[in-house]
Amino acid sequence: MDDSRSQPDWLQQRERMVTEQLAQRGIVAPRVLDAMRRIPRERFVLPALAWRAYEDSALPIDCDQTISQPYMVARMTELLELEPDSRVLEIGTGSGYQTAVLALLAGEVYTIEWHLKLLNQAADRLESLGLTNVTFRCCDGSQGWPERAPYDAIIVTAGAPGVPACLADQLRVGGRLVIPTGPLGDQTLERLRRTEAGLAREELFKCRFVKLLGQEGWSD
Ligand code: SAH
Repeated sequence: MDDSRSQPDWLQQRERMVTEQLAQRGIVAPRVLDAMRRIPRERFVLPALAWRAYEDSALPIDCDQTISQPYMVARMTELLELEPDSRVLEIGTGSGYQTAVLALLAGEVYTIEWHLKLLNQAADRLESLGLTNVTFRCCDGSQGWPERAPYDAIIVTAGAPGVPACLADQLRVGGRLVIPTGPLGDQTLERLRRTEAGLAREELFKCRFVKLLGQEGWSD
């Protein structure tokens, strides 16, 4: 029997995702579109759900968490305005999919995950893709990683009650923080930019993320 018919054509599915879910919905940064074209999302989902890897949705992963919707990953990445030499902090490694996109676009990525199982899986995936500019840490990331600050960009991929002041403090002047905030079920994606004069804050759109745990997050 010809096996090739049962093998999904991942490249074609990924290309369609980039066109229909991202470019046609307003993602314009060529570097972001290119990174989304290069990272194999099928390797970041549960093996049993690989056939759904290019759906326009978040999907369950281990530890009751989710891999974010591709559009959300692209949109948040675009909002970070990364340069090839940027230093970026990610809070909520999860599957490592967003981490991999950041690793292609930035110089150094620091990522923190609460669940060791997820962190180990993500680290293995990134290693197998040859992405070596990522430093992993397993702990409560809700207060950031001050020892490695300042960052050009900080991304939080879980919903916080509000913006933790200690995270904004870890941005360099000009740096961007992208974070979902607000009550569960009614979250808003926010971008804060640190300026000489203080913080410039933009409320962007409604969204839905799993809980940020820890000191600056929700209690378990
Ligand atoms: N960008 C990830 C999203 C994962 S969901 C992806 O697309 O796969 C959010 C993640 O944040 C979960 O893995 C959860 O365990 C983690 N998380 C929640 N609170 C955290 C905290 N205080 N510190 C570090 N990670 C946290």
